[in-house]
Amino acid sequence: MITRSQSKLREEEMLKREINVNIDFDEASREWRKNKNILKNGMYSYKKGKHNCCHIEKDKKCRKKQIIDSLYCQNHFN
Ligand SMILES: [Zn+2]
Repeated sequence: MITRSQSKLREEEMLKREINVNIDFDEASREWRKNKNILKNGMYSYKKGKHNCCHIEKDKKCRKKQIIDSLYCQNHFN
């Protein structure tokens, strides 16, 4: 059984979670931008790393460069 004070607590808990979601959203968009170059027209391109993509297809390794913070290139990154 849920007492009145418990349901109050639960409300506060939900509020806190809502605030957290907003923070997460900011955090996520910052994360999202971290490995991209934003272009003037609102498009973006991925920043490339030094290493090659880890994707292997038909025993051949993809030769494109990895995107920063990813093991894969733009084609195989998702
Ligand atoms: Zn690739």
